[in-house]
Amino acid sequence: MTPFDVIRKKRDGGNLSSEEITFFLRGFQNHQVTDYHMSAFLMAVFLNGMDADETFVLMRETRDSGKVLDLSSIRGKKVDKHSTGGVGDKTSLMIVPIVSACGVTVPMITGRALGHTGGTLDKLQSIPGFNPQPSPEKIVSLLKHVGGVIMGQTDDLAPVDRRMYALRDVTATVESVPLITASILSKKLAEDLDGLVMDVKTGSGAFMPTLQLSTALAQSIINVCRKMKTKVTVVVSDMEQPLGRAIGNALEVQEAIDFLNGSAAEDLAELTYTLCAHMVHLGGKAKTVEQALRMVREVVRSGAAAKRFREIIRLQGGYDRVMDDPRILSKSTHIRSFRATSAGYVTRCDAKLLGLASNALGAGRHRVDDMIDPAVGIVLEKKVGDKVANGEQLCQIHWNDEIRLRDALPMIKRAYEIKPRPAKTRPLIHAVLSA
Ligand code: URA
Repeated sequence: MTPFDVIRKKRDGGNLSSEEITFFLRGFQNHQVTDYHMSAFLMAVFLNGMDADETFVLMRETRDSGKVLDLSSIRGKKVDKHSTGGVGDKTSLMIVPIVSACGVTVPMITGRALGHTGGTLDKLQSIPGFNPQPSPEKIVSLLKHVGGVIMGQTDDLAPVDRRMYALRDVTATVESVPLITASILSKKLAEDLDGLVMDVKTGSGAFMPTLQLSTALAQSIINVCRKMKTKVTVVVSDMEQPLGRAIGNALEVQEAIDFLNGSAAEDLAELTYTLCAHMVHLGGKAKTVEQALRMVREVVRSGAAAKRFREIIRLQGGYDRVMDDPRILSKSTHIRSFRATSAGYVTRCDAKLLGLASNALGAGRHRVDDMIDPAVGIVLEKKVGDKVANGEQLCQIHWNDEIRLRDALPMIKRAYEIKPRPAKTRPLIHAVLSA
């Protein structure tokens, strides 16, 4: 068997055997299969797809190219959540303390911002002192003592995925259901999980913009998890407009703290509670999702989740007084109002454009080694369905650099649409699917 044989078979629409995928992936890992072979293979998969068995083998080989966490010394169920990426999505910051306060262990591995979407790791690093790379011993100790940890991806986690993703990025092969499934699950299932809740986004700010593609991705994730005997629930949620009010790192941490202290935007609360309830249910702490929902609301109401977040921050080296004193977070030097130029209803508040605008201000990266500015971003005052008067504030822009502000403003302008009548609203949660 040669790399050429495998590529040709997939190019011609054939189904690859487990041996063929294993040969190709292991060859890529030890550099006998080259980047040009892999690029051709990725395009063949992009065009002709993979069935559930092929996707499963691709995921398994990618995962096994690196280390798999050993959490066997942790008693009880370990459940994580992963999202396909969104704008203003700070749910992970609340989910780890809420779900661990309900008694389910959460070993969350999370990523950095890339493209128009934000990254939980960058948000957490706006908390002074927070260490996102605890040692393996510290991870186990944190999980035993507080039941939750939020950590960055290490170099030895699914290393083949990193190389494949870099090639996908430059060969126009990112938006493929089997490739996304294998990429995400190779990292998530290296966490030694009992259960996974996936938040698959749909809409303008999502990787998969249509409901049909998002549902296909959800089904593919379920198929692979079923073969891995990992319990999974997939929530398909809307990303046509940003989630909650804040976009930008320190601004989103502040919104997460406000949430845990009892003040939450409606959409952010609905999605966060839904994801938490499914995690608590998969973790076996509630017989029904409804019962789990009551538990998660109660740990927020009682302050137990806020207390848990404080502990997680402190034990990961962060300055936990941030929970009481927002001045500890970075602040931009300037805040500018962005106002409506007509009266009516907001009919569009485009997630992708606002994510790009926030990046242009300095909140995100275009390349992995770009520096980010934790203080800048956008706070939305008006979202889809809201009534506005002419001249009323639509959002606040937190900025530090005038040239960057100039780049961001046209995108913010294009992101908002105001019409005399309200538009038909989209549901926040389109579907909940499980194995
Ligand atoms: N996130 C990943 O980790 N991989 C993908 O392919 C897409 C989103």
